Amino acid sequence: MNFDRIMIRYGEMALKGKNRRSFEQKLQRNLIRKLRGFPETRIQKTRDRMYILLNGEDPHAVMQICQKVFGIHSLSFAVKVEKEEELIKQAALLAFEDAKGARTFKVSAKRTDKNFPISSQDFNPIVGGYILKNTENVTVDVHNPDVEIKIEVRQDAAYVTAQDLPGAGGLPVGTTGKSMLMLSGGIDSPVSGYLTMKRGVELEAIHFHSPPYTSDRAKQKVIDLAAQLSNYGTKIKIHVIPFTAIQQKIHREMPEGYSMTIMRRMMMRISEQLAEREGVLSITTGESLGQVASQTMESMNTINEVTNYPIIRPLVAMDKLEIIDISRKIDTYDISIRPYEDCCTVFVPKAPKTKPTRKNANYYESNSDFSQDIAQAIDQSYVIEVEDGEQIQQKDEFSDLF
Ligand code: ATP
Ligand code: MG
Repeated sequence: MNFDRIMIRYGEMALKGKNRRSFEQKLQRNLIRKLRGFPETRIQKTRDRMYILLNGEDPHAVMQICQKVFGIHSLSFAVKVEKEEELIKQAALLAFEDAKGARTFKVSAKRTDKNFPISSQDFNPIVGGYILKNTENVTVDVHNPDVEIKIEVRQDAAYVTAQDLPGAGGLPVGTTGKSMLMLSGGIDSPVSGYLTMKRGVELEAIHFHSPPYTSDRAKQKVIDLAAQLSNYGTKIKIHVIPFTAIQQKIHREMPEGYSMTIMRRMMMRISEQLAEREGVLSITTGESLGQVASQTMESMNTINEVTNYPIIRPLVAMDKLEIIDISRKIDTYDISIRPYEDCCTVFVPKAPKTKPTRKNANYYESNSDFSQDIAQAIDQSYVIEVEDGEQIQQKDEFSDLF
């Protein structure tokens, strides 16, 4: 006997009143897309749940995929059997044994088909006794069990489930719009992208790249990070922006103390223009207050002046250690710590101004005209797409040049 289905419970989604239907449909579509590698699986919707019917596909492999899909509160392996005592007992034992390392359990039977000859109360010890007989060093604990085995005897059949495994939470990706993620090769921005996606947001990414000061390896890192993020959502378009000329001009023409602030303002302007072109309504960054010189209140205020797009900063109030914990959990940490040159670190001044002002930034910028440079950077940008953990397509006719 093996599990034949996975039961999915929605989280917050269940609360969404009228939108609920479209949320469910989005979740279903996202699941179907993620399960393309398991062609026998089918999805069945009931009033308040979803089931993935496995039709012979490996339950654990499918579970791993489903646990990364946003909009799911918890999941359980389940098995449907005929309403026969012997079969139900075997299914319960399977469910217990699958919870590796569990030493205590509890059986909770529920009988909605009153024609089934054994009452729920009588059935619990019968099934419990069967598990005890077929295992070693295992005990019943009705208050705080390692596993609760649930049995539902319904009209059509009996369903046995165990273990509520955590889902990824959040809302189905694609239900709350799109954001342009400013993606560096660092630890923070991928975590930020993950948390934004968790709120149902689809991502496009933008990366500023300054060859030959930054290498192909640095660009590859960003592609790998975006690919890893795409495991949690839909396809991600990465816009790679050649940024060398602008950085050199800033270096030549702007006072050193303001070069970082002005560079960030240029990045923000380009991100907004690209977002507008793509019909994307917000920008997401990995900024976290107080972390580095560019992330003081003064800095944020001065950088933010150049856009009136909403900027989503999921990390703004988080500690570095909390951010690192998430990056480990979502498997971006190991990619992020690979050594590389960031366009920001290459030109970063020894003593960047930590308290820039809008007035000064505007004054310095008014001495040079960057509009051509910005237009050219956007014009020469190219797109790399990633989906389900992999790069899918390379549309960059210019890539050899940069
Ligand atoms: P991260 O760990 O994400 O690199 P950080 O702590 O290094 O962040 P900064 O270097 O101040 O912080 O960058 C702040 C934010 O600016 C980043 O989180 C990212 O959203 C954006 N950013 C920085 N460099 C780039 C880049 N080369 N391309 C795109 N976005 C960038
Ligand atoms: Mg960085």
